[in-house]
Amino acid sequence: MVHSEVYEGLLPQPPSASPQARDEDRGWGSSLKTCALCVSVLFNLAFWYSSAPQQVALAPPAPAAAESSWLSAAVQAAETAAMRSCSGHGDVFIDTVLVGSDGAQICECHECFTGPDCAVPIPDCAADADSGDPQLFEDYWRRHPEMGTVVTPGWYRIGYQFRDGQMFNFFNNALEAAIRELHALTGNAVTEGRYIVLGTGSMQLINAAVHSLALQQPNISNVVALAPYYGAYELQTKWFNTANYRWAGEPERSSSTSLNGGPVIELIASPNNPTATIQEVPSNTSGVVVYDHAYYWPHLTAITKAVDYDIMLFTLSKITGHAGTRIGWAIVKDLDLSVKMMNYLFINTLGVSHDSQLRATQLLRSVVKSYTRPTMSPEKGIFHYGHEVLLARWARLEAIFSKSSRFSLQHIETQHCSFFGKKSAPSPGYAWVYCERDEDMDCSEVMLRANITGRAGMFFGSSNRYVRLTLLRRQTNFENLAAHLSVLVSQG
Ligand code: PMP
Repeated sequence: MVHSEVYEGLLPQPPSASPQARDEDRGWGSSLKTCALCVSVLFNLAFWYSSAPQQVALAPPAPAAAESSWLSAAVQAAETAAMRSCSGHGDVFIDTVLVGSDGAQICECHECFTGPDCAVPIPDCAADADSGDPQLFEDYWRRHPEMGTVVTPGWYRIGYQFRDGQMFNFFNNALEAAIRELHALTGNAVTEGRYIVLGTGSMQLINAAVHSLALQQPNISNVVALAPYYGAYELQTKWFNTANYRWAGEPERSSSTSLNGGPVIELIASPNNPTATIQEVPSNTSGVVVYDHAYYWPHLTAITKAVDYDIMLFTLSKITGHAGTRIGWAIVKDLDLSVKMMNYLFINTLGVSHDSQLRATQLLRSVVKSYTRPTMSPEKGIFHYGHEVLLARWARLEAIFSKSSRFSLQHIETQHCSFFGKKSAPSPGYAWVYCERDEDMDCSEVMLRANITGRAGMFFGSSNRYVRLTLLRRQTNFENLAAHLSVLVSQG
């Protein structure tokens, strides 16, 4: 079922209601891009001329698709796939390749289910609680298909440049506006007067920030993070290993001098992955700090203030669940740093997928609309949905672990959330479990023996007495995890 609202998302939008957002739009479109242009002009020109056509064809453009059959065929294909029953435990998409003897596509089954329509549970299926894949939102988008669907015609922005005449602009202004509106709606971050740099997931922006900050320093930078930290900070810094920076482990909080005499770049996630703790670097720190706010959204933590740090990272993945769309953004105060990050993106991936940006625009606009349209009940909004699911999961885990002296769960404070306008009990994306017994030195190994896959503490720069279990996956995955944990805990 496709509603007219879906097409609305494709039409040019009126300027944002917020004058601030309009100003920002201009700022982004002028000064930042002008500077990016200065820095990368030679590189760009070489590329542009090598790929420019030598002659201009003056033939009239092909007629616009006058009939709507192309659209109805696309809609029908999408609907046929979506309507296919896979017992609630699988999917058929228009690009599903498995085909049965009758020529019909075969369901792609979710983990722990099998059969042509995924109706058969796999006995003794292990609970995979390793990755933070935010599949819990699938259910939300299935229930609100008109909100998440967007149609992409074959000729949609196929070039490298976003629009003709904007040689150095790879970003969708509509997406930028939706991002600013979303932050204003949730009150979780200040965007006024800040630059927004889009990335292929915030994963790309972690290194874009580190690399660009290091370029601003005369000496080799030391990249640090306080354990337990998100493992990609260490992994990326060591992997990309350039002459400008190096991984230096944990920050030296007690020392007033910078590590090894060199400048320090500190990466910090708040709320933290894995602990869900709200964190802040002491104000007397000598280094520059990159705040990763992937989880600073009302369904995952209480919103207590609009964060306003110099460099902040956000990601679509943990807001709408669209991790595979690979959209993240940095909110940056310093123009020079934004330009350096844009150049990183230019050299690394020549921008960000236009198709992904369109999808993200549709999703974020829908989220904003769901809370600002008087005709829609806020309870239908994604933050309410995600919050409800995660509150219930956390309460369930607490109940299971309360019976155990062998394992303990991290403590998370209940706080007042300005978005929900009330106290918000813990609703984290991960459980950070500690094995109390002397002999349980490797907690992930203990879990594995109970048919549960978690992520060992060492991947967070921490002790293997800890293991991280994800709470972000589908309900069936969580039920399986809860069932396996209950058995493990009951064994004493
Ligand atoms: N930062 C943190 C703290 C994360 O947990 C993740 C994803 N697990 C990311 C960044 C990367 O997010 P993405 O690349 O999906 O935008």
